[in-house]
Amino acid sequence: MPEGHTIHRLAEDHLARFGGHPVRVTSPQGKFSDSAALIDGQVLDGVDAHGKHLFLGFGAGWVHIHLGLFGKVGFGDAPAPPPTDTVRLRIAGAGAYMDLRGPTTCALITGPEKRAIHERLGPDPLRDGDDPDKAWRRVSRSRTAVAALLMDQKVLAGVGNVYRAEVLFRHGIDPYRAGKDLTRAEWDAIWADLVALMREGVRDNRIDTVRPEHTPEAMGRPPRVDDHGGEVYVYRRATLPCHICGGEIRTAGLAARNLFWCPTCQKP
Ligand SMILES: [Zn+2]
Repeated sequence: MPEGHTIHRLAEDHLARFGGHPVRVTSPQGKFSDSAALIDGQVLDGVDAHGKHLFLGFGAGWVHIHLGLFGKVGFGDAPAPPPTDTVRLRIAGAGAYMDLRGPTTCALITGPEKRAIHERLGPDPLRDGDDPDKAWRRVSRSRTAVAALLMDQKVLAGVGNVYRAEVLFRHGIDPYRAGKDLTRAEWDAIWADLVALMREGVRDNRIDTVRPEHTPEAMGRPPRVDDHGGEVYVYRRATLPCHICGGEIRTAGLAARNLFWCPTCQKP
């Protein structure tokens, strides 16, 4: 599942390619045909992202997209080739086209429906003005492990499996520590770090979390080879040596996903 930085990047990519111009909107697969007909020929006049939810604004409403585990967005240059029948949504403009396949959600919604989605999501480190206090109020009252709270989109929106593992490592926090045992200073540091790391993720379109002193160049080690890309401390590094203490990185299931951490660097 993509993390929040990917969705914010997709919002920017849609605006850059289609913003301010009328576009053709179709649903070759058919499931979105009625809604596509309502916005076909309209101007894309706004985009928004909150956590893993993408919103494309047209006069007739917002297209709400959630990729889920299997959804994919693909961009190409115009002219668009004939679509395959797996394309739920195609947007075609003068210079580019976009094909959406396999999303969990692709629906035309109203402004009030969009606001209701924002209200049930936690603050997103990538949304200017989102309030980390809203997440802190829930985290600080919870007996749930902080690693599970970070993945709960009602608590905090946009953080996925990579950022949760990495931010907890960067702050030396045991992933199984209860939310209520986190200090306010620790929470503020986690939030500030997520804002910085995820902004970098949007800009570079990949997740890098190692500090300058732990890059392959600085440590004289080979770069990480992984189709997820990026240099990380613990994510998918189970049984490998920790970049800081040399101990073995561990893995276990938590909140339906594999968790990774260093038991030496991350104290209870
Ligand atoms: Zn370590």
